[in-house]
Amino acid sequence: MILREGTLPMADCIFCDIVSGKIPARKVFEDDDVVAFRDANPAAPIHILVVPRTHIPTLNDVPEGDPLVCHMADVARKIARDLGIAESGYRFFINVNREGGQVIFHLHAHVVAGYDVGTFFIHTGIAASILWRKLLGLFSRGEG
Ligand code: 5GP
Ligand code: ZN
Repeated sequence: MILREGTLPMADCIFCDIVSGKIPARKVFEDDDVVAFRDANPAAPIHILVVPRTHIPTLNDVPEGDPLVCHMADVARKIARDLGIAESGYRFFINVNREGGQVIFHLHAHVVAGYDVGTFFIHTGIAASILWRKLLGLFSRGEG
């Protein structure tokens, strides 16, 4: 157990309510330090949130060298193995503050795998840009 002082459940925090069981969630894993459950609005077929039991608003509030984030990564890797996506691949990320896309201010990591529209557009954009550069290269060589 990773012990911390002053981290009582926060009123009006959805993730504190999920951790305490006040709000239901589709849990996939829990231990003394974290709870992992399926995202209510999944961005992909597999979208899990790994949430510390203690109320810590953002990654910026975790003390340097604290083992918590490492433990969250260990839990994410275990979940990925259990769900059979460890080898095929998944994304593990933490949104930090408003411009970093954070909406719920109780620290959490996302574990996302499978087809999702955002990744599709990023890959299509990169492929189109490579093709476009190749075409430009062909034309400029033709001119010379
Ligand atoms: P953030 O943008 O803060 O990194 O991510 C918050 C995530 O929490 C979003 O992906 C959102 O869909 C998810 N979420 C918000 N409210 C609930 C809820 O009540 N239950 C569950 N399971 N997920 C939620
Ligand atoms: Zn909280």
